[in-house]
Amino acid sequence: KGALYVVATPIGNLGDLSPRARDVLAGADRICAEDTRHTRQMLNALGLERPLLALHEHNEDARVAQVLSYLQAGESLALVSDAGTPLISDPGYRLVRGLRAAGVTVSPVPGPCAAIAALSVAGIASDRFCFEGFLPNKSTARRERLQALAAEPRTLVFYESAHRIEECLADMRAAFGDAREAVLAREITKLFETVLDGTLASIAESVGADPNQRKGEFVLVVAGAPEDADAALREGRRLYAKLA
Ligand code: SAM
Repeated sequence: KGALYVVATPIGNLGDLSPRARDVLAGADRICAEDTRHTRQMLNALGLERPLLALHEHNEDARVAQVLSYLQAGESLALVSDAGTPLISDPGYRLVRGLRAAGVTVSPVPGPCAAIAALSVAGIASDRFCFEGFLPNKSTARRERLQALAAEPRTLVFYESAHRIEECLADMRAAFGDAREAVLAREITKLFETVLDGTLASIAESVGADPNQRKGEFVLVVAGAPEDADAALREGRRLYAKLA
């Protein structure tokens, strides 16, 4: 039986594709891709040509049996997404789950991931963090999600797109406070890579003041709530009650 290789691809700079990723893609009998046109372009740039199989949210469950039949015929397959590591805010989880259940070897070819790249330059506590991916589209659901995260002590990592970055920053200021420390990493590894650091308020101001800062792709790293916020509040109430 063949194996499925889950291959990370660049998030903006083709030079970030690892030599092993290239070898695995070159040797795969078939490549499952989120967007076959996008992946074909990347393969062209690498001088590779492989049969592609579209795998997206809507056909993933149906693809498991098909992929399994290729693997059982001895083929080796690769899974890629448009950019970065498959399954991380990208399709693939159901496929991997289905194949593992069928006893298939699923092996990672690790590489770029926007969340990890942003954390690696943010300078915000990185020993413990929560990856939150994309916030809900609808504003009520988004605000509820942020409210539920307001007391989270671990560093928070969010993905955001250009058209919602300002709204997202405004909702975060409301939920976490203006003074919460954050880093906004934009267009990582690309020509206009920018890393803004400061507070949610200062970052929102910079983004609001410069239309260029609203273009492209974003990762927002937000410091966790101070560990002792609850304890300090309780202590304050205790002292107040005593004095009163
Ligand atoms: N699987 C990908 C990964 O490993 O990072 C993430 C895919 S998700 C559909 C796309 C989101 O990732 C973008 O909206 C943005 O938030 C983030 N992203 C991807 N590439 C980026 C880059 N070069 N700079 C900043 N953020 C990026």
